[in-house]
Amino acid sequence: MSNRQTSTDVILIGAGIMSATLGTLLKELVPDWEITVFEKLATAGEESSNEWNNAGTGHAALCELNYTVEKSDGSVDISKAIKINEQFQVSMQFWSYLVNSSLIRNPRDFIAPLPHMSFVQGEKDVTFLKKRFKALSINPLFKGMEFSDDPKRLMEWIPLMMKDRPSNEPIAATRIESGTDVNFGALTRLLFEHLQRQGVSIQYNRSVDNLKRTSDGLWELKVRNADNGSIERHTAKFVFIGGGGGSLHLLQKSGIPEGKHIGGFPVSGLFMVCNNPEVVARHHAKVYGKAKVGAPPMSVPHLDTRFIDNKKSLLFGPFAGFSPKFLKSGSMFDLITSVKPDNLVTMLAAGAKNIPLTKYLIQQVMLSKEKRMEELREFIPDAKSEDWDLLVAGQRVQVIKDTDTGKGTLQFGTEVISSADGSIAALLGASPGASTAVSVMLEVIARCFPQYMEAWEPKIKEMIPSYGVSLLQNPALIQEVHTLTSQTLALSEKVPVYN
Ligand SMILES: Cc1cc2nc3c(=O)[nH]c(=O)nc-3n(C[C@H](O)[C@H](O)[C@H](O)COP(=O)(O)OP(=O)(O)OC[C@H]3O[C@@H](n4cnc5c(N)ncnc54)[C@H](O)[C@@H]3O)c2cc1C
Repeated sequence: MSNRQTSTDVILIGAGIMSATLGTLLKELVPDWEITVFEKLATAGEESSNEWNNAGTGHAALCELNYTVEKSDGSVDISKAIKINEQFQVSMQFWSYLVNSSLIRNPRDFIAPLPHMSFVQGEKDVTFLKKRFKALSINPLFKGMEFSDDPKRLMEWIPLMMKDRPSNEPIAATRIESGTDVNFGALTRLLFEHLQRQGVSIQYNRSVDNLKRTSDGLWELKVRNADNGSIERHTAKFVFIGGGGGSLHLLQKSGIPEGKHIGGFPVSGLFMVCNNPEVVARHHAKVYGKAKVGAPPMSVPHLDTRFIDNKKSLLFGPFAGFSPKFLKSGSMFDLITSVKPDNLVTMLAAGAKNIPLTKYLIQQVMLSKEKRMEELREFIPDAKSEDWDLLVAGQRVQVIKDTDTGKGTLQFGTEVISSADGSIAALLGASPGASTAVSVMLEVIARCFPQYMEAWEPKIKEMIPSYGVSLLQNPALIQEVHTLTSQTLALSEKVPVYN
């Protein structure tokens, strides 16, 4: 057992998209700070950020029906859609900065333009979609959105979904060309390659087992080296817990009061992947449907063209499910060991409240392939079982906490938890996830380094022109941002690799 020790300015735990983004932002703001990354697996972006573990949707609320809810007066509330769109514009600006500064050479390596569509069936949902379209299409953030309930037009947009579709039910769709497919796994790897070139020490096969405050105000991490079984001690002034599903346990170990009374609820995922290139070639969009009654928002079904490994693919899902693991590579004891005296009541309350959800998730796990095919046939009426394989997706851990609405409330968003002195922060939750990595990491920076924000603001604004400003209130800025980001997307389109 060795006793290797190092001391650094910043330690990032986990090599997913969140640590990659925070590390890149910090290196641009303060190039001389020393950053060390510890990742328990052998490479970067292997858990939720991996391209096969998430849906790769650049969530800009262009197609996700759950971001626009129908109010009791029949109108459609688009405030959440606006917030998510603005957050995505922040990511797009930062990625454009990376491309324009040659920190990432080719946007095609991680992003591709792809129409985003919403698709509904039945009179009630068609009426809802029409209202949603009316509310969004007049908003400059959603410029270019089209609506159609004409089967001929729909045949042009989604031929694979329209072929052999019975004509006895009303159907409708919206389509917007400015959507994206993002390969978050590739982006994560590109960012870590860039960080390595900048002198960041990225240590794989290193699992952070524990962390504690030292008497001189630093954080000391106990790190297990899986290459030789040794235990190392590393200290830092600032620690970011970017362990994805592994973050909750580490936050609990840190002992900070802000991390108390919080629990985690794991939701697993499954995709169906098309293995028939002829079928794959007949679809070109991300098409989001409506969640089934009782289904959690993260299991809204969608049929997605994806660009992975320089190839066009077609995925359907995700089907939600239940597993007590907090990471795909996690342990069956993750859920039970996350129950502590301080969150026991919160967890019990959540357990009692969420029996129907747990039942739904367990039923989903038990679904046969044929039952899953039936759900797919709502999208592709003539889908053949032999053309589709099952793929285990990433694990999400939803936050459970006490809120104004009661004890043990399940949250579906992401949450930044930080200590009062700003020396440690953790990211919990998973949705809208990787798409909002840049604005969420800017929140970490603002919370943990308030003393530097004034000095850093000009550089942040150089990278993200809309930083700190509402795009919606600044039509000229929307135009500027759209021009900037569409140039990046156009660059990505120029190289015709996908077939
Ligand atoms: C099925 C599914 C579909 C999704 N679809 C989308 C989508 O379409 N669009 C979107 O924007 N987002 C989507 N998301 C969410 C998105 O994938 C996540 O929000 C994002 O990848 C989380 O990144 P992360 O860096 O926090 O975590 P991760 O990518 O999980 O990375 C955490 C890393 O920390 C490491 N780690 C954990 N514990 C330790 C430890 N103790 N010591 C050292 N290392 C540790 C892990 O090995 C891992 O590499 C989806 C997620 C799932 C599961």
